[in-house]
Amino acid sequence: MSSPTTSPLEVLQRVWGYPAFRGPQETIVQHVISGGSGLVLMPTGGGKSLCYQVPALCRPGLAVVVSPLIALMQDQVEALQQLGVAAAALHSGLEARAVATVWSQLQTGRLTLLYVSPERLLGGDLLERLATLPGPGPLALFAIDEAHCVSQWGHDFRPEYIQLGVLAERFPAVPRLALTATADPRTRAEIVERLQLQHGQVFLASFDRPNIRYVLRNKEQPGRQLQAFLAEHRGEAGIVYARSRSRVDQLARELQAAGFDAVAYHAGLSAEQRSAALQRFRNEAAVVVVATIAFGMGIDKPDVRFVAHVDLPKSLEAYYQETGRAGRDGLPAVAWMLHGPADIPQLRRFIDDSTAPPEQKRIEHGKLEALIAYSEAAGCRRQVLLRHFGEALAEPCYNCDGCLEPKALADLSVPAQKLLSAVVRTGQRFGAAHLVDVLLGGSTDKIRQLGHQQLSVYGIGRELDRSQWRTLVRQLTGLGYLVPVPDGRGGLQLGPQELVRPLLRGETTLALPLGMPQREQRRQGTNRSDGISPGVDDAGADPALLEALKQWRREQAQRQGVPPYVVFHDRTLLELAQRRPASPAELAEIGGIGAAKLERYGAALLTVLQAAESPY
Ligand code: ADP
Ligand code: ZN
Repeated sequence: MSSPTTSPLEVLQRVWGYPAFRGPQETIVQHVISGGSGLVLMPTGGGKSLCYQVPALCRPGLAVVVSPLIALMQDQVEALQQLGVAAAALHSGLEARAVATVWSQLQTGRLTLLYVSPERLLGGDLLERLATLPGPGPLALFAIDEAHCVSQWGHDFRPEYIQLGVLAERFPAVPRLALTATADPRTRAEIVERLQLQHGQVFLASFDRPNIRYVLRNKEQPGRQLQAFLAEHRGEAGIVYARSRSRVDQLARELQAAGFDAVAYHAGLSAEQRSAALQRFRNEAAVVVVATIAFGMGIDKPDVRFVAHVDLPKSLEAYYQETGRAGRDGLPAVAWMLHGPADIPQLRRFIDDSTAPPEQKRIEHGKLEALIAYSEAAGCRRQVLLRHFGEALAEPCYNCDGCLEPKALADLSVPAQKLLSAVVRTGQRFGAAHLVDVLLGGSTDKIRQLGHQQLSVYGIGRELDRSQWRTLVRQLTGLGYLVPVPDGRGGLQLGPQELVRPLLRGETTLALPLGMPQREQRRQGTNRSDGISPGVDDAGADPALLEALKQWRREQAQRQGVPPYVVFHDRTLLELAQRRPASPAELAEIGGIGAAKLERYGAALLTVLQAAESPY
């Protein structure tokens, strides 16, 4: 639809109405336009779609997007059509007539983007048809979305994805871009290998989600705490995760009884019930879905304002992914979690009782430990979270409970020295349990067999109890003083010398929140749910006008049978209410209003804007 001489930035501004590319988008777009392949690792909400959609408009020919989920495809196609881009989807949920329409569009070269499920692409004769499309450069690119589905190590393996490797052989001249929000190195390597991207480039964006505020609370009365939290977020859409189906049902009932617009979602419900819940969540402004982890994949609703965990997730990876569903639109959002010591043994048992091979179980235990370390972190949560993903955040974030409500700190320099000494004296290969046994002067078989009661560190740590020591182990791990032994068996060794040595020599002190002694754990804690509610930054926006715009959007969405965010994102409405544009030219300045939307909605928007009285 655009001539090859149009620059990607011009396309972004004209079609999407966005002023500039974000982060690595521009580099990726340029790379693909010039024919390069690669892998894009970007967090949820980072803006992966534009990385292939803009090149699709800049390169001649059809862009083929492989996507595993029908709901996602449908959303993307609708959103593109709203922008005036010729897009269609081919998947198993389509009627024969709709399929025929897509075929004829394909044959006559009228499509810019085709979304297709992997089954559809690889089964049947679609590949042959693509190879014989009319036109000079018939294929613009292949995009492989949710590329982690190719990985057997990942959490969402789909066997059909493995065969996507053939694209490299059948279409060596067509750029292939794989995209995922999963950054773990093992999955990454597997994607590169299976999709034959060895000659491509890897683009790694920061995994920080600065607009998400991380808030953790001690779990005391989960039901009540949740209600207090939700009360601070009335009128907002959000997700509440709980571990079991029965918990989900019970919480949903309690919330409904308390007047919240809550709906349950888990794999035990019928397909109709689940799809009804999903529809309400997508199409209404402020529905709270109470769900097991069955809810999530394929949710790309941009205006989820909070994700609440009433139970610990199973790993830090899962936590990152689940909380990442909040705030995809870049506006402030909260990730709120209750945590308590009672959850932990249950999660450990869950891993032990699974049928996974021992090696895999060790990995799972490690991932759970990382989550516990995060929940007990001293100071900035975001720093701990990002460190786990191999990223360093130099300054505290000032957007998490650790930064905003510093806890009472104790000088733990001496216990930390004792712990580090115990690690050294025992040979830098034991895990927390044995180290703590040694410090407390325990008499386990292991201690006797290894002769560790002879060590100078034996029994020198009676000032803390077992639980406090374990907390300290995790805190020191979270801070980098201790690092896992690379063999993945759960042993710990010292972190970098420049960090550890000053502490051992007493040149630096270490002030940390002291873990709770074991016996009192249940009674401790604060009562606040989330005193630090962010709310959307709506400075200068007239609430009545904003409401009028939302009402207008609801009507538009209903008439067209699409979710409201496909018409306009909240962010666009907010900017409209703040800046009150009065002419088409001023409208075009608003983020999210490109040429097609300006033409389609411009006049109606100006009417809404004029009708609302000025507050001044
Ligand atoms: P991902 O697929 O990585 O989760 P999306 O592609 O859905 O993310 O983008 C997330 C949101 O950010 C979308 O609402 C998108 O329109 C918006 N967005 C992406 N890139 C830009 C940009 N350069 N300027 C403004 N908004 C953007
Ligand atoms: Zn912080």
